[in-house]
Amino acid sequence: MSTTIEQDGSGYVDTHFHLDLFPDPAALVAEIDEARVETIAVTNAPSVFPHTQSLARNSRFVRAAVGLHPELVATHGRELERMWPFLDETRFVGEIGLDYVIGDPANRKAQKDVFAQIIERCARYGDKILTVHSRRAASDVTSTVGDGFPGKVILHWFSGSRRELERAIGYGFYFSVGPAMVRSKNGLGLLAAMPRDRVLTETDGPFVQAGGKPAKPSDAAGVIGAISKIWREQPEVTKFVVSQNYTQMTALGPS
Ligand code: MN
Repeated sequence: MSTTIEQDGSGYVDTHFHLDLFPDPAALVAEIDEARVETIAVTNAPSVFPHTQSLARNSRFVRAAVGLHPELVATHGRELERMWPFLDETRFVGEIGLDYVIGDPANRKAQKDVFAQIIERCARYGDKILTVHSRRAASDVTSTVGDGFPGKVILHWFSGSRRELERAIGYGFYFSVGPAMVRSKNGLGLLAAMPRDRVLTETDGPFVQAGGKPAKPSDAAGVIGAISKIWREQPEVTKFVVSQNYTQMTALGPS
Protein backbone atom coordinates (compact mmCIF):
# COMPACT_ATOMS: atom_id res chain seq x y z
CA MET A 1 0.00 0.00 0.00
CA SER A 2 2.89 2.34 0.73
CA THR A 3 4.52 1.75 -2.64
CA THR A 4 5.45 4.81 -4.61
CA ILE A 5 6.06 5.31 -8.28
CA GLU A 6 9.75 6.06 -7.72
CA GLN A 7 10.15 2.53 -6.43
CA ASP A 8 7.81 0.74 -8.76
CA GLY A 9 7.41 2.77 -11.91
CA SER A 10 9.44 4.50 -14.57
CA GLY A 11 8.49 7.79 -12.91
CA TYR A 12 6.78 9.03 -16.07
CA VAL A 13 3.23 10.30 -15.95
CA ASP A 14 0.57 10.83 -18.63
CA THR A 15 -2.57 12.30 -17.08
CA HIS A 16 -4.47 12.74 -20.36
CA PHE A 17 -4.36 10.01 -22.96
CA HIS A 18 -7.06 8.67 -25.32
CA LEU A 19 -6.30 4.96 -25.12
CA ASP A 20 -9.57 3.93 -26.77
CA LEU A 21 -8.87 5.91 -29.93
CA PHE A 22 -5.87 3.77 -30.88
CA PRO A 23 -6.31 0.78 -33.20
CA ASP A 24 -5.12 -1.84 -30.68
CA PRO A 25 -5.72 -0.51 -27.18
CA ALA A 26 -5.16 -3.88 -25.47
CA ALA A 27 -1.65 -4.09 -26.92
CA LEU A 28 -1.07 -0.51 -25.84
CA VAL A 29 -2.04 -1.32 -22.25
CA ALA A 30 0.61 -4.05 -22.26
CA GLU A 31 3.10 -1.53 -23.67
CA ILE A 32 2.22 1.05 -20.99
CA ASP A 33 2.57 -1.56 -18.22
CA GLU A 34 5.91 -2.58 -19.65
CA ALA A 35 7.07 1.06 -19.80
CA ARG A 36 5.52 1.66 -16.34
CA VAL A 37 3.99 5.05 -17.13
CA GLU A 38 1.22 6.21 -14.76
CA THR A 39 -1.57 6.86 -17.28
CA ILE A 40 -5.04 8.34 -17.03
CA ALA A 41 -7.04 7.00 -19.96
CA VAL A 42 -9.74 9.58 -20.64
CA THR A 43 -12.94 8.83 -22.53
CA ASN A 44 -15.17 11.18 -24.49
CA ALA A 45 -18.64 9.82 -23.73
CA PRO A 46 -20.17 7.66 -20.99
CA SER A 47 -21.22 4.96 -23.48
CA VAL A 48 -17.58 4.17 -24.33
CA PHE A 49 -16.31 4.17 -20.73
CA PRO A 50 -16.97 0.45 -20.00
CA HIS A 51 -14.62 -0.57 -22.81
CA THR A 52 -11.73 1.45 -21.39
CA GLN A 53 -12.64 0.35 -17.87
CA SER A 54 -12.33 -3.29 -18.91
CA LEU A 55 -9.01 -2.59 -20.66
CA ALA A 56 -7.67 -0.94 -17.50
CA ARG A 57 -8.97 -3.55 -15.10
CA ASN A 58 -5.85 -5.72 -15.10
CA SER A 59 -3.35 -2.93 -15.57
CA ARG A 60 -1.22 -1.53 -12.76
CA PHE A 61 -0.56 1.71 -14.60
CA VAL A 62 -3.68 2.59 -16.59
CA ARG A 63 -6.67 4.25 -14.86
CA ALA A 64 -9.93 4.63 -16.74
CA ALA A 65 -11.63 8.04 -16.58
CA VAL A 66 -15.29 8.63 -17.40
CA GLY A 67 -16.00 11.75 -19.44
CA LEU A 68 -18.20 13.72 -21.77
CA HIS A 69 -16.12 15.87 -24.09
CA PRO A 70 -17.45 19.42 -24.57
CA GLU A 71 -17.25 19.07 -28.35
CA LEU A 72 -19.54 16.02 -28.11
CA VAL A 73 -22.19 17.62 -25.94
CA ALA A 74 -24.30 18.44 -29.01
CA THR A 75 -24.38 14.81 -30.18
CA HIS A 76 -23.91 12.87 -26.91
CA GLY A 77 -25.34 15.22 -24.28
CA ARG A 78 -28.22 12.82 -23.71
CA GLU A 79 -25.73 10.33 -22.29
CA LEU A 80 -25.03 12.56 -19.28
CA GLU A 81 -27.20 10.55 -16.88
CA ARG A 82 -25.29 7.41 -17.83
CA MET A 83 -22.22 8.97 -16.24
CA TRP A 84 -23.62 9.04 -12.71
CA PRO A 85 -23.39 5.33 -11.86
CA PHE A 86 -19.85 5.21 -13.30
CA LEU A 87 -18.79 7.84 -10.77
CA ASP A 88 -19.14 5.12 -8.14
CA GLU A 89 -16.63 3.01 -10.09
CA THR A 90 -13.73 5.38 -10.78
CA ARG A 91 -12.03 8.34 -9.12
CA PHE A 92 -10.95 9.66 -12.51
CA VAL A 93 -13.15 11.95 -14.58
CA GLY A 94 -12.40 13.26 -18.07
CA GLU A 95 -12.40 14.42 -20.67
CA ILE A 96 -14.81 17.09 -19.53
CA GLY A 97 -14.83 20.89 -19.78
CA LEU A 98 -15.77 23.68 -22.14
CA ASP A 99 -14.70 24.52 -25.70
CA TYR A 100 -15.50 27.99 -26.97
CA VAL A 101 -14.04 27.50 -30.42
CA ILE A 102 -17.67 26.55 -30.93
CA GLY A 103 -19.40 29.92 -31.25
CA ASP A 104 -23.05 28.89 -31.22
CA PRO A 105 -24.62 30.31 -28.03
CA ALA A 106 -27.06 27.39 -27.61
CA ASN A 107 -24.20 24.91 -27.86
CA ARG A 108 -22.13 26.84 -25.34
CA LYS A 109 -25.06 26.95 -22.99
CA ALA A 110 -25.55 23.19 -23.31
CA GLN A 111 -21.84 22.63 -22.61
CA LYS A 112 -21.97 24.83 -19.52
CA ASP A 113 -25.02 23.05 -18.24
CA VAL A 114 -23.44 19.61 -18.69
CA PHE A 115 -20.12 20.69 -17.17
CA ALA A 116 -21.78 22.33 -14.16
CA GLN A 117 -23.77 19.17 -13.47
CA ILE A 118 -20.64 17.00 -13.68
CA ILE A 119 -18.79 19.31 -11.28
CA GLU A 120 -21.69 19.27 -8.85
CA ARG A 121 -21.87 15.45 -8.90
CA CYS A 122 -18.11 15.04 -8.54
CA ALA A 123 -18.00 17.45 -5.60
CA ARG A 124 -20.23 15.08 -3.63
CA TYR A 125 -17.45 12.49 -3.56
CA GLY A 126 -14.59 14.66 -2.35
CA ASP A 127 -11.80 12.57 -3.92
CA LYS A 128 -12.34 12.88 -7.66
CA ILE A 129 -9.51 13.71 -10.05
CA LEU A 130 -10.69 15.70 -13.05
CA THR A 131 -8.88 16.24 -16.34
CA VAL A 132 -10.43 19.30 -17.91
CA HIS A 133 -10.47 20.88 -21.38
CA SER A 134 -10.66 24.69 -21.43
CA ARG A 135 -9.89 25.88 -24.96
CA ARG A 136 -10.86 29.59 -25.22
CA ALA A 137 -12.94 28.98 -22.11
CA ALA A 138 -10.44 29.12 -19.24
CA SER A 139 -12.36 31.81 -17.42
CA ASP A 140 -15.72 29.99 -17.47
CA VAL A 141 -14.08 26.64 -16.66
CA THR A 142 -12.37 28.13 -13.62
CA SER A 143 -15.53 29.89 -12.46
CA THR A 144 -17.64 26.76 -12.89
CA VAL A 145 -15.25 24.58 -10.88
CA GLY A 146 -14.83 27.35 -8.34
CA ASP A 147 -12.41 27.90 -5.50
CA GLY A 148 -12.10 25.06 -3.03
CA PHE A 149 -13.48 22.23 -5.18
CA PRO A 150 -13.33 19.09 -3.00
CA GLY A 151 -11.11 16.97 -5.21
CA LYS A 152 -8.30 17.59 -7.67
CA VAL A 153 -8.56 19.48 -10.94
CA ILE A 154 -6.07 19.22 -13.79
CA LEU A 155 -6.38 21.77 -16.58
CA HIS A 156 -5.16 19.87 -19.61
CA TRP A 157 -3.26 21.76 -22.35
CA PHE A 158 -3.96 25.13 -20.72
CA SER A 159 -3.86 27.95 -23.28
CA GLY A 160 -5.57 30.83 -21.50
CA SER A 161 -4.23 34.21 -20.48
CA ARG A 162 -1.75 34.93 -17.69
CA ARG A 163 -4.54 36.35 -15.59
CA GLU A 164 -6.63 33.21 -16.09
CA LEU A 165 -3.61 31.11 -15.19
CA GLU A 166 -3.10 33.07 -11.97
CA ARG A 167 -6.69 32.52 -10.93
CA ALA A 168 -6.51 28.79 -11.68
CA ILE A 169 -3.30 28.57 -9.62
CA GLY A 170 -5.06 30.41 -6.80
CA TYR A 171 -7.86 27.84 -6.90
CA GLY A 172 -5.36 25.02 -6.46
CA PHE A 173 -5.55 23.49 -9.94
CA TYR A 174 -2.87 21.35 -11.56
CA PHE A 175 -1.74 21.73 -15.17
CA SER A 176 -0.87 18.90 -17.54
CA VAL A 177 1.69 19.90 -20.13
CA GLY A 178 2.03 17.96 -23.37
CA PRO A 179 4.08 17.70 -26.57
CA ALA A 180 2.15 20.42 -28.44
CA MET A 181 2.38 22.87 -25.55
CA VAL A 182 6.16 22.59 -25.29
CA ARG A 183 6.46 23.18 -29.04
CA SER A 184 4.65 26.51 -28.73
CA LYS A 185 6.18 29.74 -27.51
CA ASN A 186 2.97 30.67 -25.73
CA GLY A 187 2.80 27.25 -24.11
CA LEU A 188 6.38 27.52 -22.85
CA GLY A 189 5.65 30.98 -21.42
CA LEU A 190 2.68 29.61 -19.49
CA LEU A 191 4.70 26.63 -18.30
CA ALA A 192 7.38 28.98 -16.94
CA ALA A 193 4.70 30.77 -14.90
CA MET A 194 3.28 27.58 -13.36
CA PRO A 195 4.37 26.59 -9.85
CA ARG A 196 6.53 23.48 -10.10
CA ASP A 197 4.41 21.60 -7.62
CA ARG A 198 1.38 21.91 -9.94
CA VAL A 199 2.92 20.65 -13.16
CA LEU A 200 2.03 17.23 -14.59
CA THR A 201 2.71 15.71 -18.00
CA GLU A 202 0.29 14.43 -20.63
CA THR A 203 0.38 13.34 -24.25
CA ASP A 204 -3.25 13.71 -25.46
CA GLY A 205 -2.53 11.05 -28.07
CA PRO A 206 -3.72 10.40 -30.70
CA PHE A 207 -4.81 14.04 -31.09
CA VAL A 208 -1.24 15.21 -30.59
CA GLN A 209 1.78 13.88 -32.44
CA ALA A 210 5.23 13.16 -31.08
CA GLY A 211 8.05 12.27 -33.42
CA GLY A 212 5.63 12.31 -36.36
CA LYS A 213 3.32 9.68 -34.83
CA PRO A 214 0.27 9.77 -32.55
CA ALA A 215 1.66 10.41 -29.06
CA LYS A 216 1.74 7.55 -26.57
CA PRO A 217 2.37 7.67 -22.80
CA SER A 218 6.07 6.86 -23.29
CA ASP A 219 6.33 10.21 -25.11
CA ALA A 220 5.99 11.86 -21.69
CA ALA A 221 9.79 11.45 -21.61
CA GLY A 222 10.16 14.07 -24.35
CA VAL A 223 7.88 16.45 -22.49
CA ILE A 224 9.98 16.00 -19.35
CA GLY A 225 13.03 16.89 -21.43
CA ALA A 226 11.38 20.11 -22.62
CA ILE A 227 10.20 21.07 -19.13
CA SER A 228 13.68 20.45 -17.73
CA LYS A 229 15.06 23.09 -20.14
CA ILE A 230 12.57 25.68 -18.88
CA TRP A 231 13.27 24.74 -15.27
CA ARG A 232 17.03 24.49 -15.84
CA GLU A 233 17.10 21.15 -14.11
CA GLN A 234 18.35 17.72 -15.08
CA PRO A 235 15.60 15.62 -16.72
CA GLU A 236 15.89 13.13 -13.83
CA VAL A 237 15.10 15.91 -11.36
CA THR A 238 12.16 17.15 -13.46
CA LYS A 239 10.83 13.61 -13.77
CA PHE A 240 11.08 13.18 -10.02
CA VAL A 241 9.21 16.44 -9.32
CA VAL A 242 6.39 15.54 -11.73
CA SER A 243 6.06 12.02 -10.36
CA GLN A 244 5.94 13.44 -6.82
CA ASN A 245 3.20 15.83 -7.94
CA TYR A 246 1.25 12.88 -9.32
CA THR A 247 1.73 10.89 -6.10
CA GLN A 248 0.64 13.84 -4.00
CA MET A 249 -2.36 14.58 -6.20
CA THR A 250 -3.62 10.99 -6.07
CA ALA A 251 -2.95 10.50 -2.35
CA LEU A 252 -6.17 10.12 -0.40
CA GLY A 253 -6.87 12.22 2.64
CA PRO A 254 -6.28 15.86 3.49
CA SER A 255 -3.54 17.56 1.48
MN1 MN B 1 -7.97 15.15 -25.11
